[in-house]
Amino acid sequence: MQKTKMFKILIRVLLPVCSFLLAFIFPINLFIKIALGFTLALISTLLLHMVLKTSKLRYTSYKIMSWLFYKNSHGLNYCPCCDNHFDSFLDLELYNNPIYNPAIFKGINQKVSCPLCNSAPRHRIIATWANMNIEKLKSSKVLLFAPEISLMLWFDRNKCSVTTADLIDPIADKKIDLTSIDFKDNSYDYIFCNHVLEHVNDYKKALSELYRILTADGTLIISFPIDDTLEVTIEKPTTSNEERKQLFGQIDHLRIFGNDSIQILNNAGFEVDIMDTSDKNICPDTAPAKYDSNQIFICTKRA
Ligand SMILES: [Zn+2]
Repeated sequence: MQKTKMFKILIRVLLPVCSFLLAFIFPINLFIKIALGFTLALISTLLLHMVLKTSKLRYTSYKIMSWLFYKNSHGLNYCPCCDNHFDSFLDLELYNNPIYNPAIFKGINQKVSCPLCNSAPRHRIIATWANMNIEKLKSSKVLLFAPEISLMLWFDRNKCSVTTADLIDPIADKKIDLTSIDFKDNSYDYIFCNHVLEHVNDYKKALSELYRILTADGTLIISFPIDDTLEVTIEKPTTSNEERKQLFGQIDHLRIFGNDSIQILNNAGFEVDIMDTSDKNICPDTAPAKYDSNQIFICTKRA
């Protein structure tokens, strides 16, 4: 078992147990000791939950784990999100998760998850692009859909301020519907939109909103699942989780993009450059799904 995973399990068990036992050092009667023990265990569990769920505290806990376990690691697998090397990435085993269509995942290399920050290739390719553009990002207004921990670690570590947005995630700075964004025109110099477009009802409206809030010389960095065996993007309005799972790979996907993806971005008014995992050494460049082409599109407004 990976060291960090073992550490997380150990601390989840040890902290409440030790808190419970702490009550027994006090010279009080047994009944009060037990009541106090349960109270302390509950408080410590809640505090641990806060550390894991509150973004700033969570980043600090990742930094501590990184320093404890991976400071001197020189494994071949590198994660540019948390800036650590590993002997191997972790197996996601998405084919065992009922929200996914196992046919999309089975037989494909699943050893793609960073043992520390859980980044997938799609996060690491964005962090690799960000590493090449770090000075520009530091001096610009940056918007990030959505606040995934691995990317937030990159921004935190590199001291880049970023506004995070999401429709559901309570950690996000702004609650935003991508199809109706409550920002003025030309608001952000860099917008990251990582695997969101497949979830929104009207992706063309979402792209027009992203175009609108991007500054004239700004850059949209966008990615979404692409099945390169499809000539065109397919979508079908359905309320059936099972049907979405079969058609689009998972129950919360509303479409699967195809080889017309660049044309779709062109139609929204963007010039498009592509970066894919084969450009850079951010192994592994496969998976987790057969529709994960692990490309990002670097989009600028057409003159
Ligand atoms: Zn990582």
